[in-house]
Amino acid sequence: MEALLNSWIALYQAPMFLLFPVMTLALSVGSFLLFALPWTLLAWIDPKWAKPYKIQQKPFQVGKYFLPNLARITLNSSMMLLVLIIAWPLLRLSNVHLGEVPPWYIWVIQITLFLIVDDFLFYWMHRYMHENKWVLKHIHSVHHRIKNTCALDGNYFHWVEFVLIGSLAMLGPVALGSHLYVIYAWIIIRNLEAADGHAGYDFPWNPLRFLPLYDGPVYHDFHHARFKGNYAGALHYVDRYFGTYIKEYLAYKKTHSYHLPHRNQSLPSKKTV
Ligand SMILES: [Zn+2]
Ligand SMILES: [Zn+2]
Repeated sequence: MEALLNSWIALYQAPMFLLFPVMTLALSVGSFLLFALPWTLLAWIDPKWAKPYKIQQKPFQVGKYFLPNLARITLNSSMMLLVLIIAWPLLRLSNVHLGEVPPWYIWVIQITLFLIVDDFLFYWMHRYMHENKWVLKHIHSVHHRIKNTCALDGNYFHWVEFVLIGSLAMLGPVALGSHLYVIYAWIIIRNLEAADGHAGYDFPWNPLRFLPLYDGPVYHDFHHARFKGNYAGALHYVDRYFGTYIKEYLAYKKTHSYHLPHRNQSLPSKKTV
């Protein structure tokens, strides 16, 4: 019995326990706050110069949700840590490693793959959460309390949904047995996606908008405003394939010419939400 207990404790004394699940979670929380807080501050101040770029002309709900948001991030991260501790005896069997650092193209290929797989799986999980009334009412409705989001709302979830989203993000890296540094980079990018997607502003100069297949905060903002449709995490083409685009989102892209392929940097002409 004592030998069993000792071998169980030894699992958690292995350096990889701290470096893989614990460090990845810490990086996830830290990078999310780093990306989300400046955007959230902007939404809180809601300055006049930025108003033409607000996707929804309603007031932001920053004051009401700031502290609940921080409380939820603390609770969700603690639950995630608990799940990781429970799952570690299994997770440690993956080929995730800290060996030789792979060349740059492996980083690019793997992270692109993680992004596409994660987004595709998220699409179906998210869509299911809207179609299953019980799940919608008891779990996903938490994220939808906020209709006009700011970046910090990107992690405002019921803890079950937060753990599921985190698990989806880790599926690719665990299946491929990636280098730990590649996983760190991926998790930082995934948190950038979560914060940016909820920023509430559609600035023509937002550098992320120029990434292929990503459309900036406007895509997911319409999901919060209209509730049905635009189910993918960030890569809107998935909705095109499965016919779940929000019509008003497509109309918005037509009226805001900098969303067209020629990327003319003109100002928003009209608000549609
Ligand atoms: Zn939703
Ligand atoms: Zn959201």
